[in-house]
Amino acid sequence: MISRDDVQQLLQRPHDGRPVLSVFLDMSVTADNKRTHAIYLNRWRTQPPEPEVGDGGNPVRADIGEAYQRVERWLDERFDESNKGIAVYAEVGGGWLRGLQLPVPLVNRSAIRDEPVVGPLVEVLDSEQRYGVILVDREHLRLFSLYLGRIMDEHEVRTEPYPTSHSIQRGGYSQPLYQSRKAEEVRQFFKDFALEAGEFDQRSRPDSFILLGTDENVKNFMDVLPASIRDRVVHTRHAAMDASSSELIRLLEPFIAMQREQSEAAIVDLLRERVRQSHFAVANFHDTLEQLQEGKVQTLVLARDLQRTGARCSRCHFLLARDQTACPYCGDVTVRGVDLVEAMIRLARDQDVPIRYAPADALAGLNGVGALLRF
Ligand SMILES: [Zn+2]
Repeated sequence: MISRDDVQQLLQRPHDGRPVLSVFLDMSVTADNKRTHAIYLNRWRTQPPEPEVGDGGNPVRADIGEAYQRVERWLDERFDESNKGIAVYAEVGGGWLRGLQLPVPLVNRSAIRDEPVVGPLVEVLDSEQRYGVILVDREHLRLFSLYLGRIMDEHEVRTEPYPTSHSIQRGGYSQPLYQSRKAEEVRQFFKDFALEAGEFDQRSRPDSFILLGTDENVKNFMDVLPASIRDRVVHTRHAAMDASSSELIRLLEPFIAMQREQSEAAIVDLLRERVRQSHFAVANFHDTLEQLQEGKVQTLVLARDLQRTGARCSRCHFLLARDQTACPYCGDVTVRGVDLVEAMIRLARDQDVPIRYAPADALAGLNGVGALLRF
């Protein structure tokens, strides 16, 4: 399973002069139960993408073909069929190779650049929250995180409750005494469960929490949860303690989809409103690039699957939204055909600027890109 650390490692990979082939594939099965990746790989191998000319100059054609063969070999040997998307990076004319598998499909694409292309991975990772799910009843606790439709970090707590009411009565305990013991027991269990939830939060660091159980258990457990978790509970509902993982995923899917839509609509609304009032916000490539390079961006907002090329000054490295031949700042020549979306994502990552994604049609009026500004 891919993580943010994988992307961080790719971003920090030192450039050794050799270009990198980045390949993204949709590995989901079609209606006739086939995967179509072989078609794309063949096409790209015979007609490789135009390399972005960088420090290493133009790569040798034979080396590009060899890099595609290594990608194909990795797929044959390593692809796990439970996944739907892959990203494979192969050094052109070198030996480095890195393959990542994702539970969601990626748009088929390949590129040859100085550095690994990370945009499609960032888009997947930043489009969805990581949820911590807590399922509780009076005697059990189940914890797991849910991210990109997969369950991770599962943890279960079982208790040793007092015997049932029936066997207690046989032993001569009175009913009121039994009930008060039982109530005290649940209070103690819930306190222990709350500690477990706190430890889970430290380990898995979910963005928000979903609390499942009967209304009564949810309410009572909410009261004992640490405030740091309680404040991040975004959804509660009924679920059976013995529900299977796939049942729980199915149960939560509609809520997660709805929350994603709402959160995307909210950021788009905020951006539009602020742009309209010219209040700490910009839209379009030119203005957003400028503000990002000046370190003024608070949140970068990008349309999904956005593609756009521009230019980069060969001396001061300033990025230009238009394919200009000369840098307007220092006058030096520019490198044209630079992937601006990738460049913006890298700039945002360098500055720890959060990136929010939204559907392309929602951002159409803003040219697919905008930013909320810090000042
Ligand atoms: Zn310049």
